[in-house]
Amino acid sequence: MPVVCSSCEKKNAVLKRPKTGFSLCKDCFFWAFEEEVHQTISSARLFTAGETVGIGASGGKDSTVLAHVMKVLNERYGYGLDLMLLSVDEGITGYRDDSLETVKRNQQQYDLPLKIVSYQELYGWTMDAIVKQVGLKNNCTFCGVFRRQALDRAAMMLKVDKICTGHNADDVAETVLMNFLRGDIARLRRCTAITTGSEGAIPRCKPLKYAYEKEIVLYAYFKKLDYFSTECVYSPNAYRGHARAFLKDLESIRPSSIVDIIHSGENLSVKEDVKMPVQGICLRCGYISSQKLCKACVLLEGLNRGLPKLGIGKHHKLHHKLLAQEPLTEKEEKKLKAVDF
Ligand code: SF4
Ligand code: ZN
Repeated sequence: MPVVCSSCEKKNAVLKRPKTGFSLCKDCFFWAFEEEVHQTISSARLFTAGETVGIGASGGKDSTVLAHVMKVLNERYGYGLDLMLLSVDEGITGYRDDSLETVKRNQQQYDLPLKIVSYQELYGWTMDAIVKQVGLKNNCTFCGVFRRQALDRAAMMLKVDKICTGHNADDVAETVLMNFLRGDIARLRRCTAITTGSEGAIPRCKPLKYAYEKEIVLYAYFKKLDYFSTECVYSPNAYRGHARAFLKDLESIRPSSIVDIIHSGENLSVKEDVKMPVQGICLRCGYISSQKLCKACVLLEGLNRGLPKLGIGKHHKLHHKLLAQEPLTEKEEKKLKAVDF
């Protein structure tokens, strides 16, 4: 016997919500999902009318759902936002080139302006070339640092006031777990914040922070959204993979685990006397940095000098030498040249 939607009590239910366990029809699910994102946006006051908001768009399910829902809510509730899509082309053949085609179709479907910036134009390196030099072990460190800056630079070019990204509840819970397991207090404190980077950088926010990945997939599926679902060809990130698998196990026993972990991350307080990095600016490129040089500049210098390990691990003591363009000693160079593939 078909189950009747527990919300409208008229239509047949087509799904059981992973988050609440309620059986809903398609329209009631869409409404519930969109309303929850609206609640997140309005209770955290993520936006102000008149702002230009860049949506980080990768062509994947999260950012495609984000772009769709932002457009719906902007119209439904009169947020008064100018929305646009910002994409980063990392230069990954067989992955990003295809997913960018999806973003270009999304641009047409949602009728939003689109700006694509590439690693090649910003840094002179594609991820394909970086992987050739650094191997498949630390590639995501380069990619993550470069992407963060690239998105900011695209946002600056377009005079965007805020950036929003498609990070969902599972991503945030995963990051809480990882930072906890690594003992990374500074990141643990930052990773649950719904808005970050207000000091000096373009503020970033996560309107899907409380949306479960499973529900995002259902939303995209029932709305027939056009998204790209292939994994990056260079995706080794084993540590995150374990955190993810652990989280999925917990979720299968108790679905609220995801949001519970986010709440514990939010509620952990850090003792006053714990030393936190002080934010300054990079002396080379002007980007925010807690060291003399920002991470992107150090990684880039390492690539250009053929010393791929320069930005991996802690080599802060060498920053003054890099700034002064002083040569490194033979011993220092040797340590930084080794690549573990
Ligand atoms: Fe970049 Fe790693 Fe993500 Fe691939 S998996 S896009 S290399 S961060
Ligand atoms: Zn820099």
